[in-house]
Amino acid sequence: MKAHEHLPLLPIARAKGVWLEDFDGRKYLDGVSSWWVNLFGHNEPRIKAAISRQLDQLEHVMLAGFTHEPVVQLSEKLGRLTGLGHCFYASDGASATEIALKMSFHYWRNSGFPNKTKFLSLQNSYHGETIGALAVTDVAIFKDTYAPLLQQSMQMPSPDARLADADETAEAYAVRCAEFVEKYLSHHHAEIAAFIVEPLIQCAGGMGMYSPVYLKRVREICSKYQVHLIADEIAVGFGRTGSMFACEQAEIKPDFICLSKGITGGYLPLSVTLTTDEIYQAFYDDSVARGFLHSHSYTGNALACSAALATLEIFEQDQVLMKNQKTQAYINAQLATWGDMPIKHLRHQGMIWAFDVITSSSKFQQDFYQQAVSQGLLLRPIGNTVYFMPPYVINESEIDFMLSTTKSLVLACA
Ligand SMILES: *Cc1c(COP(=O)(O)O)cnc(C)c1O
Repeated sequence: MKAHEHLPLLPIARAKGVWLEDFDGRKYLDGVSSWWVNLFGHNEPRIKAAISRQLDQLEHVMLAGFTHEPVVQLSEKLGRLTGLGHCFYASDGASATEIALKMSFHYWRNSGFPNKTKFLSLQNSYHGETIGALAVTDVAIFKDTYAPLLQQSMQMPSPDARLADADETAEAYAVRCAEFVEKYLSHHHAEIAAFIVEPLIQCAGGMGMYSPVYLKRVREICSKYQVHLIADEIAVGFGRTGSMFACEQAEIKPDFICLSKGITGGYLPLSVTLTTDEIYQAFYDDSVARGFLHSHSYTGNALACSAALATLEIFEQDQVLMKNQKTQAYINAQLATWGDMPIKHLRHQGMIWAFDVITSSSKFQQDFYQQAVSQGLLLRPIGNTVYFMPPYVINESEIDFMLSTTKSLVLACA
């Protein structure tokens, strides 16, 4: 808050497409999709209309003992898309993580393995910041202060391709990291409930991208040692990596998938944890104590579900994944001319691009952010990593503006 003495908050009055507009009519290109939630731009007519229609029918009813049409339809659609047939709803990503962790532990307890009480995650992972989710998160700035409050968890080496040896391919490095998991689980599987990963991209950890080979191997290893695999697709789900879900690129089915962020196109808070029939059945019992006693007041909110249904419909109507390939080709062609820039690890996966700026300035992140905003571009570097995660509707002239502004600012701030 104190930093705002020098850097006042930016009050936004309205928004349309990729543009945010302040009260003085100044516009800002939303290059981070309002923290990765917005898919089809602001003020999207079809999502607005769906919410508005739902508003005339039913805004909300509790899901305990009751149900409603949007939540049934959404569950059926998500079940088909993910291959995991059971949905548990909450309102934010961290809660989806909590639900997966609790459900995994409880599954093992119900199945006669009460000693499986621990979790594995990756180095540099991010799964949210409530106390359970923070325990499997590995970003020091979020975690260190609260360390005394957190359950112990173990971090496996990150398969982030930037960490590969100089003469090693991303795939070879991913396989090497998976071997470490195998070695660890061969000794400790009896006490491990689940391994939670962000498939293909560790976003909050600095857009670390890795080979799908890692997910393939880790799926095999988790099955072999009876450890659940939790895919946290909160950031990468809904087309961000090029496929609807990142796990598809590794052709794996996790035991849990956590979804949120883009699920409503950026309109309303909603999250869901999906799981398998096998896990569902372990709770299906007359004994209440064997059931999954976890609830949130706004679970399965009808307005949020209607926004999610409209979002899924747009994917079909507009053939979004195919259209995004054209956008990707355009951006990639522009970035291919950036050879002489002071950057390294220029990388791309689906609708996310990132590079690391070579600089000795300790103020790069702050300088870049401030100057970009003053030029009408919203980007938030993570350390020296600059990334683009624009709404899918960004057009060529908007891309030109985003890239040329970034290029000159990298040179000015490095
Ligand atoms: C954002 C994010 C979360 C947390 O979601 P919130 O809605 O902010 O609680 C969890 N996991 C990943 C991978 C995320 O990117």
